[in-house]
Amino acid sequence: MPASPDLLAALTDRLGAAHVLTAPDETEPYLVETRGLHRGRALAVARPADTAEVAAVVALCAEAGVPVVAQGGNTGLVSGGVPQGGLVLSLARLDRVRAIDATNATITVEAGVPLAEVQAAADRAGMLFPLSLASEGSCRIGGNLATNAGGTAVLAYGNARDLVLGLEVVLADGRVWNGLKALRKDNAGYDLKHLFVGSEGTLGIITAAVLKLFPKPASRGVGFVGLADPTAALALFERLRDRAGHDLTAFEVIPPFGLEIVLRHTPGATAPLSGPHGTYALVEFSSTRVDAPAGEALAAALQEALEAGLVEDAALGASEAQNQALWALRENLSEVQRREGGSIKHDVSVPLSRLPEFLATATRACEAAMPGLRVCAFGHFGDGNIHFNLSQPVGMDRAAFLGEWSRFNRIVHDVVHALGGSIAAEHGIGLIKRDELVRYADPVALDLMRRLKTALDPHGLLNPGKVVVPEGDAGPPP
Ligand code: FAD
Repeated sequence: MPASPDLLAALTDRLGAAHVLTAPDETEPYLVETRGLHRGRALAVARPADTAEVAAVVALCAEAGVPVVAQGGNTGLVSGGVPQGGLVLSLARLDRVRAIDATNATITVEAGVPLAEVQAAADRAGMLFPLSLASEGSCRIGGNLATNAGGTAVLAYGNARDLVLGLEVVLADGRVWNGLKALRKDNAGYDLKHLFVGSEGTLGIITAAVLKLFPKPASRGVGFVGLADPTAALALFERLRDRAGHDLTAFEVIPPFGLEIVLRHTPGATAPLSGPHGTYALVEFSSTRVDAPAGEALAAALQEALEAGLVEDAALGASEAQNQALWALRENLSEVQRREGGSIKHDVSVPLSRLPEFLATATRACEAAMPGLRVCAFGHFGDGNIHFNLSQPVGMDRAAFLGEWSRFNRIVHDVVHALGGSIAAEHGIGLIKRDELVRYADPVALDLMRRLKTALDPHGLLNPGKVVVPEGDAGPPP
């Protein structure tokens, strides 16, 4: 895209020179996605300070016919925030907590507040904002809503979509939609906020949100469990869900290879169980009842499962520090895969009842396709979401391995599709899965998505080339 001196001058005039970045060393962090898989290009990076400035930037770009790519923390895993020309609009300076209403159990925040800050503000008010991701120190709430982020607490509290009551959005023409309602019941026409949640910056720019808060648990218990296989993990999950209901707040699985590499690459980490097991589960109970400590309830439930022969072994965190150490084994898994060379990732979901079948079929198919391949299938199991990641064979060239990404997409996504699953469970579509969406989405659904895009962004200026592209337009290559 040729530089547009008039647009840059107008942006500088509106935001001040310090907040319109054009120098390569300043724009660099906004051009590369978190794993270095894709590098983009942009005319400039604009850093507005409030909703009025965001609206002004979008209106100026609409007038100039220049695309706008919203960015929060740039931690997305589908290259949705990587610009392919146009202007990067960083929401980072919209970082105010506007209000907390403890009686209504809501918090109103601007899009650029880091997720960890939203959690901390809720905590200071004696409440809980439950959305929790390993990237929570860097990602921002606007990005969480734009991607409908999931994470480790979905089992009990739902995705980002389930946590939002109202939104403020700048539309493609620069108008501001003030939908900052703090209502739990509101059937006054179409529920517009849900159009923007999960739309990855392609339908509007989220500038603020009203979010739900919850009572803070009085206690939690964390267990690390050794099991024979994923079928046993599913049986344990059902048993714990029946027993604890909403108090079962996490059920994550880690395969033996995953535990091996976390222990290998995490200084000071120790194996929580002595023997090897076919698979592992990280289980959390939490409770708001002071008279019913969650740790005790979890210990009793696991003891019963042990006696029933469902569980092979289990370790319980005896303190909050030990709970955190057990969680770290799960949370460090994404990071340590880098240390094992190239990693081809699939963020997928299937109905819970079909998880063991999915894991067995997809693992068999991938291992047959490349001898020496190391499958690392881990994740949020309890909500049907698995990160079906593949680590390169030892000694293989990294670039050559990553060149096989499309071939493995076909193998894994075909299995997911056949089992009634989703090829994009929580990270979204972005650039990386745009063509996969065309392949697997219901044609009527795809048509509706394209019509919505045209209705809300008729000139195709909001994050073009991501999620859906017009029929017959191949879009820029991923
Ligand atoms: P960005 O990366 O900046 O943007 C993501 C997309 O949203 C882009 O398409 C962008 O254009 C758009 N966007 C950003 N802000 C706005 C806005 N204000 N208005 C409109 N569009 C906007 N994700 C999960 O769901 N669950 C996990 O468990 C999880 N774990 C992770 C762990 C690690 C270590 C890392 C690096 C990432 C993880 N992610 C996870 C992915 C990522 O953190 C989430 O997708 C997060 O919600 C993105 O937030 P962000 O602010 O970084 O958004």
